[in-house]
Amino acid sequence: MKLVFLGPPGAGKGTIAVKAKDVYSIPHISTGDLFRENIRKETELGKKVKAILASGDLVPDEVTIAMVDNRLKEDDASAGFILDGFPRTIAQADALMEMTALDRVVNFVLDKEEIVKRLSGRRVCKSTGRTYHIIYNPPKVEGIDDETGEPLIQRDDDKEEAIRNRLEVYEASTAPLIDYYRQKGLLVDIDASKSPDEVLSSMVEALR
Ligand code: AMP
Repeated sequence: MKLVFLGPPGAGKGTIAVKAKDVYSIPHISTGDLFRENIRKETELGKKVKAILASGDLVPDEVTIAMVDNRLKEDDASAGFILDGFPRTIAQADALMEMTALDRVVNFVLDKEEIVKRLSGRRVCKSTGRTYHIIYNPPKVEGIDDETGEPLIQRDDDKEEAIRNRLEVYEASTAPLIDYYRQKGLLVDIDASKSPDEVLSSMVEALR
């Protein structure tokens, strides 16, 4: 199954992808995670994109497309994948079409007020990328990762100014992909306002 997860930041794409990858036995490929891993390891790519991620702007298409093209050539992606956070522009979507044919594009639908609530309450474990929410999905001990015991942090781009910018970038550059994929007959709309397990099961049902 070759899937793209589309939707605004904070709609829960990553949370659902972590669960869905086991349902379908396919890798979860998050471009945001790949960039953050490069930043953590201080690679050349990481140095190039660090300030861009902190601001909430998009990394240039050619850099992002090359990274995804390489990742999709790895063995584990040959039978299928969940692309989370890619494509985010029409140019990226055109490039993806050249790389492979998709089965479906899942569009996670959530209103703006709820998006801001989710993003501003999100906390992450820096080393594992595991995410929590201070109200909806709190850790067992406040501010501490359940498994590693490390302190949780707030992503720079989950701070108010960057959230506003990310939503503007989403509207301007990424939302047009909804029509792009609808016209190709690939789009499946999913109500993302429910709990992760409810969202997962309605998606699995819709993809059947
Ligand atoms: P995410 O974790 O998906 O919210 O992505 C975090 C940040 O990584 C975004 O705000 C962008 O700066 C960058 N990024 C992730 N995916 C892409 C993409 N497909 N194109 C450009 N920039 C991206």
